[in-house]
Amino acid sequence: MRVVIVGAAGRMGCAIREALVLRPDVQSVGAIDREIDASRGISTDLDSALRGADVMIDFSSPSSTVANLAACVRHGVAALVGTTGLSDEAERAASEASARIPVLVAANTSLGVTLLIELVRQAAKALPADFDIEITEGHHRHKKDAPSGTALALGRAAAEGRGQDFESVRGPLRPHGEAPRQVGGIGFSVIRAGDLVGDHVVLFAGEGERVTVGHQATDRAIFARGALKAASWLAGRAPGRYQMVDVLGLKTSA
Ligand code: NAD
Repeated sequence: MRVVIVGAAGRMGCAIREALVLRPDVQSVGAIDREIDASRGISTDLDSALRGADVMIDFSSPSSTVANLAACVRHGVAALVGTTGLSDEAERAASEASARIPVLVAANTSLGVTLLIELVRQAAKALPADFDIEITEGHHRHKKDAPSGTALALGRAAAEGRGQDFESVRGPLRPHGEAPRQVGGIGFSVIRAGDLVGDHVVLFAGEGERVTVGHQATDRAIFARGALKAASWLAGRAPGRYQMVDVLGLKTSA
């Protein structure tokens, strides 16, 4: 399976290139970033790299997602988008591209978070809808988007579990001044500090009891290994929009 890595010079790009050592079945046929770095085999020409590739693995910047998906459609290459903070336009582009190529957009490619998303869907379904939900996430000081794409995916899963429209129950980012909390709302708290790889805790708080589930990432390698597994799974699939839960076979009945 031949992959092109976009964002190859970044933290995740480097982690994926390192994880390739453990996957002799996966061959990198292109490493793309914003600037050429011949010493590391990095180029800026995505179109050339995609010729002869099976899957693009994109961990770069949301501003490039639409163009990168269009390039994958031009070359008939499957797209795994791990970039977070996607605009509505990029989300639409992913859905449109999925009519022509296999597309998987995953805010988190780890096994643990994929399981956590399913646990949250189930917990939200089982618990009364007046339990407040608070999602707390922590990441390193360089992270650009907030709340994290994973926190939003957890919020969406909770809303889906309750049969609610996420946007209508989504609360503001905390601290949020003196606005009272909407009962049963889904709130977000964000920590940006040091070199945190990614912490997520989902609190279901009722009257007299609380349920907490969470995940702590201590090594970016978990995202890299999951991304390579997903890319391998995606290669040769029929066009369509897929999720990490499909890759890992963790789907529980909603
Ligand atoms: P980073 O800033 O270390 O790396 C991003 C790289 O992309 C940089 O080298 C940058 O030069 C490059 N880049 C930016 N725009 C580009 C463009 N138009 N064309 C080519 N290259 C471009 O960031 P990171 O920590 O590696 O994270 C990258 C993205 O992946 C972020 O959106 C982050 O939130 C996301 N992420 C996702 C997961 C997951 O499991 N899905 C895990 C970690 C990070």
